[in-house]
Amino acid sequence: MTRQPNTEDQHDMQAFTQSEAAFAHALSVFPDGTSRVTIERDPIPKYMERGEGAYLFDVDGNRYLDLNGNFTTLIHGHAFKPVVEAVYRQLASGSCFANPTLMEIELASILCERIPNVDRVRFVNTGTEAVMFAIKAARAFTGKAGIAKFEGAYHGAYDWVEVSQSATPENWGPGDDPVSVPLYKGMPESVLDETLVLRFNHTELLEKQLQAHAHRIAAVVIDPMPSRAGLIAPNPSFLEALHQLCRHHGVLIIADEVLNLRQGYHGASARYGLKPDLITMGKIIGGGLPIGAIGGREEVMQVFSAKSGRPLVSQGGTFSANPLSIVAGIAAMRALDKAAFALLEGLGNRLRANLADIIAQHDAPFAVTGAGSLFRIHPTRSKPREFRDTATNPAQNAVLRTLSRFFSRHGVILPNGAASCLSTPMGEIEVDTISDLFRLFLQEHSADINSMEKPE
Ligand code: PMP
Repeated sequence: MTRQPNTEDQHDMQAFTQSEAAFAHALSVFPDGTSRVTIERDPIPKYMERGEGAYLFDVDGNRYLDLNGNFTTLIHGHAFKPVVEAVYRQLASGSCFANPTLMEIELASILCERIPNVDRVRFVNTGTEAVMFAIKAARAFTGKAGIAKFEGAYHGAYDWVEVSQSATPENWGPGDDPVSVPLYKGMPESVLDETLVLRFNHTELLEKQLQAHAHRIAAVVIDPMPSRAGLIAPNPSFLEALHQLCRHHGVLIIADEVLNLRQGYHGASARYGLKPDLITMGKIIGGGLPIGAIGGREEVMQVFSAKSGRPLVSQGGTFSANPLSIVAGIAAMRALDKAAFALLEGLGNRLRANLADIIAQHDAPFAVTGAGSLFRIHPTRSKPREFRDTATNPAQNAVLRTLSRFFSRHGVILPNGAASCLSTPMGEIEVDTISDLFRLFLQEHSADINSMEKPE
């Protein structure tokens, strides 16, 4: 079934007086009026009042289909009943203790049972913390300080993984020798020296770089499908080379699955044949509450063990394994059975196929990447193969902004420059709404779109 979005109704309905007032006030208490750099503000942020299933409602009463899901966290949508009930129950029994709980064993068991190579787990509160402790674990295990990461990949706010996160054609350096680009002015030179920047799916370069630098590298940090670097799948031969080189040179592999664990019941590494020593998790495993986790091979995870005295890596945290996040995570993960993943996979396949068909029918300069419940629309005729192919010019940026704005005006939140995601309360109606809107966008904005391909 396809249906035309009711563009006029939605268009006329939208007003932002409450959001405007809130933003004016927020400017007096936050440096730029927001408390996260990732907040969309076009031109002002939309302040949300509540979420329900696949939909969000802003303070001005506008309704949106949510394809952001708090940066891919909310795999069951908003206010998922089992999570709400579990959190209410736990809140009435206490929100945090300086002692362990039975629940933390249960959530850890779910992860150990489902995710290959996760023999042991430690909980933290964010994906950033999970990546930070996985890197510390790799350093302690190997006795080396350096790390390697892929250009353009996002892994949170630990300095070493921030290197070259936002590299540009002006500063990323030669193709066969990527530069370690600082994220902020004043980033220590030592951090840049200690971070080797690799290029995703470039097997020959990987061989050359690891042969030269492996003696000082503790781990390669790899997101199996890096969202901000293009949401592109790894080539099997590239992963095979990565395994062989890392094994040969005593370098660990850290799979950052904070975002991509949602690709399947067994996670993303299992999906693509990646065999990591450590896996970082977050987002979906907390059911919408703050969480992170480091999992991995027993031998490596022993660096956290205090069984025989002081651990090699001291990992604590006031709110680590807090019962609220843990019970929310149990409820969300229990509901994420194989049938739920099959539903998401089917919806994702249908949506990506629809979008590709619409692009072909209009001979439009767009391409779609993604897998499972994730997708990303690129303003290029062919799919990017790695981060450098995703660099956009001002005309392409303008079209992407118009696309996001167009979706928002028609009641759909479509992230710009990052992964969009489906969630279990969605169905074919939502997939068709997204497809129909994209078709309408290509029709209504053909002049803007054509201007992208004109020589500057
Ligand atoms: N790694 C990846 C791959 C992520 O996508 C994110 C968050 N978007 C992080 C790490 C950091 O997680 P958090 O925001 O919970 O610190």
